[in-house]
Amino acid sequence: MARATIDLTGAPWQSEGTLADAFARPITYLRVSVTDRCNLRCTYCMPEAGLPWIEKTDILTFEEIERVVRGAASAGVRSIRLTGGEPLVRRDLAQLVARLAAIEGIDDLSLSTNGLLLAEQAHTLASAGLSRVNVSLDTLRPERFQTIARRPGLERVLAGIEAAIEANLAPIKINCVVMRGHNDDELAEFAALTRERAVFVRFIEMMPVIENVAGHLDRYLSSQDIIERLGTLGDLQPSNGPGGNGPARYFAYPGAPGAVGVISPLSHEYCDRCNRVRHTADGRLRLCLFGNHEIDLRTPVRAGASRDEIAGLFRSGMLIKPERHHLRLGEPGSRMRAFSEIGG
Ligand code: SAM
Repeated sequence: MARATIDLTGAPWQSEGTLADAFARPITYLRVSVTDRCNLRCTYCMPEAGLPWIEKTDILTFEEIERVVRGAASAGVRSIRLTGGEPLVRRDLAQLVARLAAIEGIDDLSLSTNGLLLAEQAHTLASAGLSRVNVSLDTLRPERFQTIARRPGLERVLAGIEAAIEANLAPIKINCVVMRGHNDDELAEFAALTRERAVFVRFIEMMPVIENVAGHLDRYLSSQDIIERLGTLGDLQPSNGPGGNGPARYFAYPGAPGAVGVISPLSHEYCDRCNRVRHTADGRLRLCLFGNHEIDLRTPVRAGASRDEIAGLFRSGMLIKPERHHLRLGEPGSRMRAFSEIGG
């Protein structure tokens, strides 16, 4: 059985119940992928035919994921985000939410979704203990949705956002990957949403992965360009935003109940504030979104590792968490073909 044997007792950056990496960054946030499957095929993310999927038997069960999160919580993780692939295609996800919501030490449980299946699940997820959702949405135009996502569904996503508002899965964040020449003419429509509703629209710089690298330079738009364009729409002022774990910088228009934000993985490096690690659907602890640093958790979990042993593996992972990623325009930063492989 593969078990880490590194003894971190007394390591200067570790102390009881807190997790920090070798660069003294507190690591409190774990993104948990529950599947690599997705019901969309966004052009910047996945090929139309999909990817070679992880074998079903290699995907962790809810009971196994719960054990991983118990170990993580014991090591010092406080926030969990469920992601994928598309997490809502995993059957009975609310059962996993209920298991994780009950874990001592976890005080924030959120979900990233494309929203297609959210309308029918929002209330059940909220009742099970989900705190909030992020919905990915790159366009507000139905035909364009079909072009970008290669499947229809805008109406369903908008219904999902409404259901999430009703279920009080707040603050509701909408994540929009901005692509020059594909959806950058919709910044004003997205910004208008924040003047009408208490939603937080975050514009994300498109990141290069193997799948999209060919067109990356043409489609990339920096967050500075995005902020400048948003600034022409009104008196945009820096804002605190809704809080959370992420690296977004927020701005708001006067009197708006919501805010706009930018996430700038390429143009405005924020690795020095990184607070997160990831767990893939097949049980790998992934230390950096870009870079290939990971630890196998599935083997020890399936061999019966205890909560403390799993916590020890999280602490060991801190030794190989890199200081920063090395993303550059037009170059994939790792072997990853698409975010769905590891949970974006
Ligand atoms: N299916 C869920 C969703 O749509 O939120 C969770 C997984 S998805 C991979 C997570 C986020 O990563 C989405 O907002 C998606 O738009 C974003 N994403 C995927 N590939 C990306 C890329 N190359 N650059 C920037 N964001 C990307």
